[in-house]
Amino acid sequence: MLLGLLLAKQGIQVTVLESHKDFEREYRGEVLMPRFGQMMQQIGLWKHLLSYQHLQLKNFELFFRDKLIIKISLSDLSPEVPFALWMPQPIMLKAFLDKAKTYPNFHMLFGTLARDLIEDNGKVVGLVAEHEGQSFEVRAAVTVGADGRSSIVRKGGRFEFEYEHYDFDLVWFTVKHALDYENTVRAFFSSQYRYLVLPKYPDLVQCGIVVRKGEFSEWRKKGIHATRQELLDGHPIMHEFARELKDFSSFSVLQARVSYVKQWAKDGCMLIGDAAHTCSPAGAIGVSVAAGTAIVAADVLTEAFAKKDFSKELLGAVQAKRGEEVKRIQGLQARFTSVAFLKYPFLQWLTPYSLAVFAKTGIMRRFQRQLMVMEQPLPCDHVRPFSD
Ligand SMILES: Cc1cc2nc3c(=O)[nH]c(=O)nc-3n(C[C@H](O)[C@H](O)[C@H](O)COP(=O)(O)OP(=O)(O)OC[C@H]3O[C@@H](n4cnc5c(N)ncnc54)[C@H](O)[C@@H]3O)c2cc1C
Repeated sequence: MLLGLLLAKQGIQVTVLESHKDFEREYRGEVLMPRFGQMMQQIGLWKHLLSYQHLQLKNFELFFRDKLIIKISLSDLSPEVPFALWMPQPIMLKAFLDKAKTYPNFHMLFGTLARDLIEDNGKVVGLVAEHEGQSFEVRAAVTVGADGRSSIVRKGGRFEFEYEHYDFDLVWFTVKHALDYENTVRAFFSSQYRYLVLPKYPDLVQCGIVVRKGEFSEWRKKGIHATRQELLDGHPIMHEFARELKDFSSFSVLQARVSYVKQWAKDGCMLIGDAAHTCSPAGAIGVSVAAGTAIVAADVLTEAFAKKDFSKELLGAVQAKRGEEVKRIQGLQARFTSVAFLKYPFLQWLTPYSLAVFAKTGIMRRFQRQLMVMEQPLPCDHVRPFSD
């Protein structure tokens, strides 16, 4: 959506295909770290976004059971964006779509599935799509795969991974919160597990329990009683949910996948976002990293359209400008995961306290800044920003 909107602003004909019939559905995390706000400021969309329903999250809190161990203010991480933005994805996407619709050269096709790429003489010239059971072709100078971690464009274009792995699963569920609940970014530790706890519109919190790969099937075998006990051992926010738990139907399991595609561009085609580089959920920065690549892609494509050059060499500039930062962020996430999550299970009980020490010495702060704040503006020379 973001790339489509930016290209529409440059006067380029854009068609966005979305397999769902609208934006209303369950998404993964909906917390956007300061680096996302900084990017929106750079392209002049920040005020527009903030005119939509949102919350500003000022703190990060870490609990061991119900005991608060660390409270870190997000307010002074970045002077330009002194909070994490909590904006449900349907609202954020609608904000982009509302703006994009003001351009007659922008076209949105909901309920339309990309099926396969069309190639001609080794060049991608469009794709085959399907809408309500009808197949049709969409021909384009450039086809961009922004279709997430299971990208069809990536498969159709035979793009190869440089690396792809996943280190843990997240058992995901939603609980209602009390009226006086303060919306903030939280992590809970029970005696055995780590929980990521994020606000969810309007009066819910989304909880993710970090478990070993495949561990959830062991939970199922043990029966719901053991899971209920585990939740009762954690923060009181989960207690009511735990007491009413009858089966496993309220849980879904998400793999914390990390990947990086070797070459993001081919003649007439490129990958962006999770399709090119999937980040782990650590630090809740996946949307920001995907948005960063979309903005740089808009810049490179503006140049490509001006020069009428859609070769892999020119399109490859996106990876040349973004690849290093993406890898650096994935590296930081891996380090954080090994300290905070699962690498040394026998030391798990120590983790909340060692994190508290990190917080006091400022190591945590430096680490958070590197992950959540953009040090430099994105390299953009061609794309015209909006005037916020
Ligand atoms: C458990 C978990 C929690 C997370 N929490 C956060 C968080 O709090 N904050 C954060 O910033 N990031 C978070 N992330 C990461 C974030 O969800 C992703 O990095 C981000 O959504 C990537 O954006 P994207 O646009 O590349 O892909 P996606 O968001 O996956 O979007 C791809 C779109 O393409 C559509 N699509 C797919 N295939 C086709 C097709 N064939 N034809 C047409 N349309 C298609 C899909 O319907 C979808 O709308 C989390 C990830 C996980 C796993």
